[in-house]
Amino acid sequence: LASRDFHPDDTVIDIKGTKIGGGNLVVMGGPCAVESAEQIDEIAGLVKAAGGQVLRGGAFKPRTGPYSFQGIGVEGLIMMAEAGQKHGLLTITEVMTPEYVDICAEYADILQVGTRNMQNFDLLRKLGTCGKPVLLKRGFSATYDEFLNAAEYILAGGNPNVMLCERGIRTFETYTRNTLDLSAIPVLQQLSHLPVISDPSHGTGRRELVEPMSKASVAAGADGLIVEMHTDPDNSMTGDGVQSLFPDQFAALLKDLEQLAPLV
Ligand code: PEP
Ligand code: MN
Repeated sequence: LASRDFHPDDTVIDIKGTKIGGGNLVVMGGPCAVESAEQIDEIAGLVKAAGGQVLRGGAFKPRTGPYSFQGIGVEGLIMMAEAGQKHGLLTITEVMTPEYVDICAEYADILQVGTRNMQNFDLLRKLGTCGKPVLLKRGFSATYDEFLNAAEYILAGGNPNVMLCERGIRTFETYTRNTLDLSAIPVLQQLSHLPVISDPSHGTGRRELVEPMSKASVAAGADGLIVEMHTDPDNSMTGDGVQSLFPDQFAALLKDLEQLAPLV
C-alpha cells in the first residue's frame, strides 16, 4: 500500500482544508514539549504570524533516561488544542503507547510516532484505526525498507493518511546529534506516494544548522518541515533548546522558504 508501484499519484492529505503532499509545502513549528498554557499560546501566535500551518508540541515525551522530564501529559494535549484553535493552527503531538492513541486523537489533528517507536507494531496497528493522519518518524537506524514497512502497518490497518518523516540517522559523526539523510527525501518519494516531511531540528541537533538544512530539504523536494521553535530555548524543559530556533529566526526562515516553494 505504501508503494508507488500500486499508487502512482502522490497522496495528498487534506486536514481541514490544509493540503499536505502533492507539491504543497507545509511547515510545522513549535516547542519540543508543551510546558504551560502560556508558553504554548505564545508560541502558537508566533508560528501563525510567521506563516506556519501546524503547531507542534509534545505532551508525552520519549526520553532517553527515565529521570528526565517526561512531558505534562493529557493537560498538555488540552493546552495545545486550545492554542491551536485560538490561533487557527492544526496541531501535531507524539503518541507513545496504544492506550493513549484515542485521547491524543481526540485533541490533536495529526499524531506523531517518534523515532524510538517506529517499530512499535502494536502502536502502529492501533494508529491504523485512529481516524487521524499520522506522521511516522524514521527510526534512527532504520533502512528505507524497514521505514516503509512500518508505514505499511498503519496503511494496512485502514488509515491511508500517513506522512513519512526523515529526522536523521545515527552515523559515526558526533558533531551533529544525528545525520539528516537528505537522500531519504527523493528516495522515499520515488518508492512511495506518501508525503515526505523533513525534521532538520532533530536531524542536526544544532540551531545554526536548521536553516540551511531546511532549505536543502525543500530543494530536495520535501513536502514539509517540522521545526522546533522556542521563546526561551536556554530554559526549555527538554534538552532540545540547543536545536530550537528563536522566533525571529523561525520567521526569517519561513520568509526565505516562500521563495523556494509556496506555503499551502
Ligand atoms: C520530537 O519530535 O520532539 C522527538 C522526540 O523526535 P524524535 O522522535 O525524532 O527524536
Ligand atoms: Mn524534540
